[in-house]
Amino acid sequence: MPELSLVVPCFNESEVIDAFHATLTGVLERSGVEFEICYVDDGSDDGTRAALRRIAAADPRARYTAFSRNFGKESAMLAGLRMAAGDAVVVMDADLQHPPALVPRMVELYRGGHDQVVARRDRAGDGVIRTALSQLYYRLVRRCAEVEIADGEGDFRLLSRRAVDALLALPESNRFSKGLFSWIGFDTVGFPYENVQRAAGRSKWGGRRLVNYGIDGLLSFNSRPLRLAVHTGLWLFVSALAYALWIVVNVVTDGVETPGYATLIAVIVGLSGVQIATLGIVGEYVGRIYHETKRRPHYVVRETGGGPEEGASARRPVAPRLGEKRW
Ligand code: UDP
Ligand code: MG
Repeated sequence: MPELSLVVPCFNESEVIDAFHATLTGVLERSGVEFEICYVDDGSDDGTRAALRRIAAADPRARYTAFSRNFGKESAMLAGLRMAAGDAVVVMDADLQHPPALVPRMVELYRGGHDQVVARRDRAGDGVIRTALSQLYYRLVRRCAEVEIADGEGDFRLLSRRAVDALLALPESNRFSKGLFSWIGFDTVGFPYENVQRAAGRSKWGGRRLVNYGIDGLLSFNSRPLRLAVHTGLWLFVSALAYALWIVVNVVTDGVETPGYATLIAVIVGLSGVQIATLGIVGEYVGRIYHETKRRPHYVVRETGGGPEEGASARRPVAPRLGEKRW
């Protein structure tokens, strides 16, 4: 069993995957740590799968699992964690934005007794607007969520075997790893590194995908938005009562006044907005419950390969067997 497993989700990374593999193996060979690399092809359509097949055939330390379609990075990471057999696992991106050179340092901290080692990137080179929005978002999450999620702490981290097992034991199908990493606890240490731009290819996170990811993060770890909706509703109800009372008093003292059409419209529109927003929040939670109750698997495997005895080396099964719990 290797000391270290590296989990690498890949989606359309054919332009950079060979460079990534060469850099990573170079760094790890120099550090002397015994390792395996678990690639997960998240339904790429650009030849990434063929590249992984080639890499796995040439290098016995590399294995891969390929999905039948794109299931998203969260599912890919989960598949990788299930594949990993090492005593410690590092999750990293394939685009060289998570510098392989930092891995030996993470391993050193792990040997020092930490269960999670987080490399935290700064935001150098990111757009001004994106940086500002991210900071605003993390402030919101810190206020709402019941877990600690820090700006810049992404998925580039090392997890000890017991931390990985804790993660794999979590049953939810809506997985928001940033929250889950924090939820499992254990000794965590971090160190900052300078942000690097992608070596080649394009980022898969457009505006809409990022916003959806953000909503997932906010809703996955608390029911405070629901509470907020209730508070807003109550508060509005009380103010409406007070306003009505004020009108009655006015009518009694000054007689009938011409009613303010604009005010009325404003109130109706305002309240409708609040109602729709509240319904939306409730709907999100109901949708999540629906999603969880279906108990669908997180992904479907198309093929696996590589490893010392081609395909037979995984400590735990990558695809759930029939009749087995599906998470
Ligand atoms: N990724 C994935 N599935 C997806 C989107 C991305 O496995 O649906 C992988 C991608 O190949 C990369 C990592 O997740 O290794 C981070 O993606 P990307 O670099 O596009 O994100 P960014 O660094 O821009 O946040
Ligand atoms: Mg990237």
